[in-house]
Amino acid sequence: MAETLRSDIKLAGLENTFEERLKIGFSQDVESWRHSEAVFDEHTLKIEDHPVMEDWERGYMKELADVVSQRGGVILEVGYGMGISASFIQANKVDRHVIIEANNGVYDRLLDFQKVSTVPVSPHNGFWQEVVTSFGDASFDGILFDTYPLTKEEVHGNHFPFFNEAHRLLKPGGVFTYYSDEPVSISDFHHKKLIDAGFSNVDFRICKVTPPTDCQYWKHPTIVVPIITR
Ligand code: SAH
Repeated sequence: MAETLRSDIKLAGLENTFEERLKIGFSQDVESWRHSEAVFDEHTLKIEDHPVMEDWERGYMKELADVVSQRGGVILEVGYGMGISASFIQANKVDRHVIIEANNGVYDRLLDFQKVSTVPVSPHNGFWQEVVTSFGDASFDGILFDTYPLTKEEVHGNHFPFFNEAHRLLKPGGVFTYYSDEPVSISDFHHKKLIDAGFSNVDFRICKVTPPTDCQYWKHPTIVVPIITR
């Protein structure tokens, strides 16, 4: 790992999260993520044996969903997972719900969700990196980003590479939120990434969570809900 990456992680205060993620490991081949089996049980989603989503995050997902829906309008959600945040968004007053999902098995679930959803859903199958280029500037009132680190480069903030696109895709006054990977505040390092992408209105709330003690990826009693306005 490059030394700069290690010092960035330290600056962000994310050593613990980083070490945990290193222990979990990474997909051998990012391309394989599309086709690998999505294994759902009542409480979790695993892909290639990675803990991709767990339902102790439900309260946190509701907070992210409420933030992203605060202006109504057209919402972009990146990463469908167990559809928990998607259901909370649908319970709010929004006009359209665009969802991007890279894994084929999860995407099948998204198509089922589309059939029963009350707010019209536009599903897209693929990695956000290849899908968002087809979306015009200032297309969305809200964006909720919650994917999963597929490479070591993404591990200390798989949301960071998306920040420039979030800024481009949001309408002025639109709101951006995401799985923050930070327990108590937006670190200076993280804040700088937002500023560099063009965001100057940076706020957050703290959400209390109770992950099970054996949760591989989150060990804290709180997690940050970013409220970033374009
Ligand atoms: N918020 C969801 C959880 C999302 S889990 C919920 O409430 O249930 C993360 C999802 O992002 C997984 O389904 C994973 O396949 C998908 N994903 C990972 N990398 C992605 C990428 N680059 N583009 C789009 N989807 C991605």
